[in-house]
Amino acid sequence: MNKNSSIEMLDQLVAFDTTSSKSNMQLIDFIEQYLKSFGISSEIIKDKHEEKANLLAVIGPKNVSGIMLSGHTDVVPVAGQKWSSEPFSMKERGGKLFGRGTCDMKGFIACVLSKVPDFINADLKEPLYLAFSYDEETGCTGVHSLVDVVNDLEVKPRACIVGEPTSMKVVNSHKGIRHLLTKVYGHENHSSTDRGVNAVSYASQIVNFLDELQEEFRQRKPQIEGFDPPYATIHVGRMQGGMVANITPNYCEIEWDYRPIPGTDEDEIYERYCDFIDGNILPGMRKKSSQYGDVKTDYLAKVPCLFPETGSSAESLVKHLAEQNSTHVVSYGTEAGIFHQKGGVPAVVCGPGSILQAHKADEYVEISQLDACERFLDRLLDVMKA
Ligand SMILES: [Zn+2]
Repeated sequence: MNKNSSIEMLDQLVAFDTTSSKSNMQLIDFIEQYLKSFGISSEIIKDKHEEKANLLAVIGPKNVSGIMLSGHTDVVPVAGQKWSSEPFSMKERGGKLFGRGTCDMKGFIACVLSKVPDFINADLKEPLYLAFSYDEETGCTGVHSLVDVVNDLEVKPRACIVGEPTSMKVVNSHKGIRHLLTKVYGHENHSSTDRGVNAVSYASQIVNFLDELQEEFRQRKPQIEGFDPPYATIHVGRMQGGMVANITPNYCEIEWDYRPIPGTDEDEIYERYCDFIDGNILPGMRKKSSQYGDVKTDYLAKVPCLFPETGSSAESLVKHLAEQNSTHVVSYGTEAGIFHQKGGVPAVVCGPGSILQAHKADEYVEISQLDACERFLDRLLDVMKA
């Protein structure tokens, strides 16, 4: 395969509809073949249904530390959004490239892939790792099996750059994500008997408790500067239960999330929630019925916070590459926290495009942002040359 410009490459990547609910295998296969055409083999780490995969490839020597470039291959759905042009066919208008994933985050992957020949032709003193994941947009669930492989490497990379859209600013810290499903089990009865265990009522008490807990965190001092908002958020996004007015509901579920701040106890909110269930909800149910009533809680996603490692070599490196003197924090979660906390690889987020253009109709990345990312990668190549 010939050397592609990042724009041509992005055009090809956008054409694969890798909405998280669909398979990303065709895109992974395309990247694998592209790398193979330069003699680079890839490790394909499939999910249990073999419908999705992560890809890990390495360029250069393997027995020394190195740098990892990471991005997710999935994109958010376009359903219900009003696009001016076909979302999976990239269009250029006024220096902007429109299409689903142009900004979040195939633009970064396109820049990286277009630079692969330069890294191959250079005499690298340390390896360049390429790590592309699936199911990031559904709670960073796909990357875990990739991080397991990273954990088995003889020498781990000294830095991981996650190319989420930060307008090429250096982001060294982000909030975590805890996404939970609470299932409240009651017992049905004719409403007139007052003998049922009302799952909707108990679920409502849980929602009220979470709202009160949010208020407590809103007021808590000290607030952590830089985050918007500067406190942990707790939010109920969905509640569903009950059938009709005259049947006591036997089931209700609540889907909720909270976003802890790095440097605080990430499990505190969950523990407080558990105490409330054990201390208030279950005893209330027991009073009503010795037989019925229960609460089960499942984690749907758990994304650790990204801790700032101010002054670390990974951070200094990325500031140098991005030609930035300052670092920033963001409220959204990324895979960087997982690379750092689970994989032990210092991670920094920096990539082309703005988060303001992500996840919407007419998502775009500015061509100037891709140019800036290419210069960033050129400087990386200079750092890695023997
Ligand atoms: Zn993203």
